[in-house]
Amino acid sequence: MEQNKIPQATAKRLPLYYRFLNNLNHQGIKRVSSKELSEAVKVDSATIRRDFSYFGALGKKGYGYNVEYLLGFFRKTLDQDELTQVALIGVGNLGTAFLHYNFMKNNNTKIMMAFDTSPEKVGTEIGGVPIYHIDDLEAKIKDVRVAILTVPSSEAEGITTRLVKDGIEGILNFTPARITVPKHVRVHHIDLAVELQSLVYFLKHYPLQNERD
Ligand code: ATP
Repeated sequence: MEQNKIPQATAKRLPLYYRFLNNLNHQGIKRVSSKELSEAVKVDSATIRRDFSYFGALGKKGYGYNVEYLLGFFRKTLDQDELTQVALIGVGNLGTAFLHYNFMKNNNTKIMMAFDTSPEKVGTEIGGVPIYHIDDLEAKIKDVRVAILTVPSSEAEGITTRLVKDGIEGILNFTPARITVPKHVRVHHIDLAVELQSLVYFLKHYPLQNERD
């Protein structure tokens, strides 16, 4: 599989496609048109056709795409069979919500453990995930490849340094802090406050066309 030929933008949309197709498959639906897909995942159908052409799925006119074929492809590409172990650092409001959610809809990622400093939280479990003291990070984190950061901003940099030393490969940073990592570590930054503000800004300054006009 020449996976590295898939453009990054396409790769980012794969989980979206995967989730929708998985739902269709559960409902026993065998095929889907790019128009239906487009409406469901909110990606225009030209982009979907281009994305799918990268993995050799060419929709037939009047037939659409074969759901099972696509799912098989996505499973392989997204490493659905290989579980990526995730750790969560900081069991506050946001962290607690993630532990309850635990991304069970993606079969390939699982929060295996969480870390905090609070004596009330350490030693307990949330959503079946054990919470350890941050002092035990090095001892526990061995097989974990990805970390979710939901600590206060002031803690982000120090914890990142430790995570990098422990060999973490990816960090999903939910703190407003910008963290610095060496080149081989990938950081995705999600600042929910900024996302919300930006949505409100766009609503105000770039209103969408009213369908009734
Ligand atoms: P959130 O921002 O997730 O809503 P919160 O307001 O409940 O969180 P914060 O002060 O942001 O609380 O802290 C998030 C969590 O991070 C808390 O449970 C806190 O105990 C924990 N925490 C603070 N410092 C550290 C640290 N150095 N290592 C691990 N966890 C920490």
